[in-house]
Amino acid sequence: MQSFMPRIEISLSQIRDNARMLCELYGQQGVSLMGVSKAVLGEPAIAEAMIQGGVKFIADSRLENIQRMRDAGVSAQFVLLRTAASQAEAIVKVVDISLNSEIETLRRLSYYAKRHNENHQVMIMVELGDRREGILPCDLSQFVQATLRLPHLKIIGMGCNLACHGGIKPDNRNMRELSEQVNRLEKEFQLNLEIISGGNSANHEWYSATHDVGRVNNLRLGESILLGCETVGRTTIPGLHTRAFQLFAEVIESKYKPSLPFGEICQDAFGNVPDFRDRGLRQRAIIALGRQDILVSGLQPNNDLAILGSSSDHMILDSRNQNLQVGDAVNFNLDYGGLLAAMTSPFIRKTFVKVSHSAAV
Ligand SMILES: *Cc1c(COP(=O)(O)O)cnc(C)c1O
Repeated sequence: MQSFMPRIEISLSQIRDNARMLCELYGQQGVSLMGVSKAVLGEPAIAEAMIQGGVKFIADSRLENIQRMRDAGVSAQFVLLRTAASQAEAIVKVVDISLNSEIETLRRLSYYAKRHNENHQVMIMVELGDRREGILPCDLSQFVQATLRLPHLKIIGMGCNLACHGGIKPDNRNMRELSEQVNRLEKEFQLNLEIISGGNSANHEWYSATHDVGRVNNLRLGESILLGCETVGRTTIPGLHTRAFQLFAEVIESKYKPSLPFGEICQDAFGNVPDFRDRGLRQRAIIALGRQDILVSGLQPNNDLAILGSSSDHMILDSRNQNLQVGDAVNFNLDYGGLLAAMTSPFIRKTFVKVSHSAAV
């Protein structure tokens, strides 16, 4: 059977292994995990692999992805990472728990929860320095007070998110601040906050170094489970698979050509004026994969290949000693941006592999 290209091959067993090893690691200090499925568009088989690995919650930023998983029969507590007031009615119907930072959104969630006789669980996000979502600590009391007045909502926890916009590292200082805010609010309002979600794949370094996680008892992990790395320095977490996703594309031309373009230089397809180094006559391959399919900077060629450039539909490779033939498959490892683009592209077929790739990382 001819394999379709371009395609992404997904090893569900490696994703399951990663989830299991991370559940064990974080479980040692009482931290549960939410498996974050947004980078894979809520692909139900991947969510299942995370659940088999031990995660109890599946979190996604998009309602459509959560709906997709529910329709496919995935059974978990579903958490919505990003809410919007305009989606309040759908949120209370589709999602168990949502992360929130605006009282207007909570008002609407409460309104629709009441109307549909649902009880919606909310987690309140605290801004601890990264300057993306969250309530400033000085405004928290007022926010909690206002939320407590809203019927059909239950505050089940608090969370924070770092290392996304401002590039701020989770550390003992900001994690301690989160715990202190939790303790303070519980006392002030006689609450019991069950889930304290301290962050994402960037929290690994903090977790590994700390002897006291404080009140933090949950993390929301996408990249660590999918790609096996933490995200402060993008180092591999020992024991995890880093090649669960492999992209394959087809060689459609392979020829020796001079490395320098010939003629008068003008703008390329994307408005840049290119600049090339003369490397003499080189064997080059063109593959049927371009910027409409993929984030080119998110690809790492596995073979002895270098990416020379790309346009909408073509990628030009220096094939060095590979002697690629027309029809050959070239494969790439992906970073988070590459994974996101590959999973989102309608042109790239998603396939699942049973046998794991070579263990080399
Ligand atoms: C995307 C996201 C995560 C997961 O981030 P990773 O770096 O993939 O672990 C966690 N929390 C929130 C709020 C997110 O938006």
